[in-house]
Amino acid sequence: MKFMQKRNYVFSGFLAIIIVFTGFFAFVIAQEDADTPVPERKIVVFKEGVSDAEKADVLAGANVVRIKKLRHGDAVVSADKDAEAKIAKDERVAYVETDFVVEALAAVDAKKAVAQARTPSQPAQVLPWGINRIDAEEVWPTGNTATGTDVGIIDTGISTSHPDLAGNIKGGVSEVWYTSNYNDDNGHGSHVAGIVGALNNTIGVVGAGPVVNLYAIKVLDRNGSGYLSNVINGIDWATAHGMKVVNMSLGCDCPSQAMHDAIIRAYNAGVVVVAAAGNSGGSVIYPAAYEEVIAVGATDSSNTAPYWSSRGPEVDLAAPGVSIYSTYKGTKYATLSGTSMASPHVAGSAALLLKAPVNAAYDANENGAWDPSEVLLRLQDSATDLGPAGRDDVYGSGLVNVLAAVSL
Ligand code: CA
Ligand code: CA
Repeated sequence: MKFMQKRNYVFSGFLAIIIVFTGFFAFVIAQEDADTPVPERKIVVFKEGVSDAEKADVLAGANVVRIKKLRHGDAVVSADKDAEAKIAKDERVAYVETDFVVEALAAVDAKKAVAQARTPSQPAQVLPWGINRIDAEEVWPTGNTATGTDVGIIDTGISTSHPDLAGNIKGGVSEVWYTSNYNDDNGHGSHVAGIVGALNNTIGVVGAGPVVNLYAIKVLDRNGSGYLSNVINGIDWATAHGMKVVNMSLGCDCPSQAMHDAIIRAYNAGVVVVAAAGNSGGSVIYPAAYEEVIAVGATDSSNTAPYWSSRGPEVDLAAPGVSIYSTYKGTKYATLSGTSMASPHVAGSAALLLKAPVNAAYDANENGAWDPSEVLLRLQDSATDLGPAGRDDVYGSGLVNVLAAVSL
C-alpha cells in the first residue's frame, strides 16, 4: 500500500515535470518563431574545382544536410540564417541564394480550360489560329517541318498517352521529388508541347514544327509549381543532352544567379532559350529577363497585346497567347491564355529556322550554323512590327512570322 502510494507520488512528480518542460519548450519555440526564421531551402553554389569531399565538408561545418545534389555539382540545403551566413563566408563557396518557387504561366483562364478539356473522343484536326498567324503551315510545304530538331519543354511534363503528341516524344526527365516519370500530371506542359510540335495527322491540333523531337523536362509539379533548383537541373539536363531549343513557359520575380549561370551554360553550348515574359502586365520576370533568353509577350487574334502581358526593355518578340487551343493532360485538349502560350510559338519557329540553311548575313561567327544570337536576330528582323513603329516594350520587335524568317 505504502509502496503504491510512493509510486503514485513518483508518477505525479514525473507528470509535473513533463508539464513544466512542455511549458518551457512552448516558450522556447515561441521565442524562436519571433527571433529566428525557420530554415529555408537554399542553393549553395560552389567555386569551380572544389571536390565532392570539400563540398561535404562545407555543409558539415555549417551542420546542414544536403537535400539534393544538382547536376552542375551544387547543393540544395535547408539552412537557417546563421548556417547560411557560415556557408556563404566559406572560401570554397561562390554564393548562396534562396531556392524560390517558380510557377507555370497560364493561369488566366485555367478553369475554363479544364471544363473544355473533357473531350470524349479525338476531334478532327484543326489549324489553331496561332499556328496560322505565324504562318508555320506555309513553311511545311517547302519541306521544312523541323524534322528531328530536339526541343526541350521545361515544364510540367508532356502527356505520354496523348495520340497527338506521343509520336514526337523522344525522351525526358523528371526533377520533381515525387516522381521519376516525365508524364504530365498538370496539363500545362502538354499544352505548350502541342504548340511547338503536335502531330500533323487527322486529329486534334498541329504544332509549329509537326515533326520535332519533343523532350519532356518535368520541373513543375501537378499544381504547376516547382523549385528554382528543379529548373536549373532541367536547363543543365537540356544542355547535356544536346537540345537545340528549350522553352520555359514559367518563372517568377526572382532573379537568380544560379539560374542565370545555367542559362549561360546552355547559351554557350548553342541552345536557343525561349521564355514567357510573364502574366502580371508588369515588368518582365525571370528567366525571360536574362539577356541570353528570348523573351516573348502575348498577342490576341487582333494582334493586340492583352493587358496582362508583361512588358519592358527585355521583351524581344510577340506571339499568339490568347485563347490558344492545344493538347492537354491525358488525351484531352484545352483552350488556354498566357505568355506561356506565346513562348512556344517562338520556340517552334526557332526549331523551323534551325532547319533552314544559315544565311551569311546572319552567320556572325561564320561557323556555317545558327547560333542563339543569330536566331534571335533573324526572328526579329523578319517579325511583323506592331504597336509604335520600331521596337517597343510590349511587342519587342513584333509578331513572329516564321515563313518570313526561313525565307532567306
Ligand atoms: Ca494533329
Ligand atoms: Ca553562326
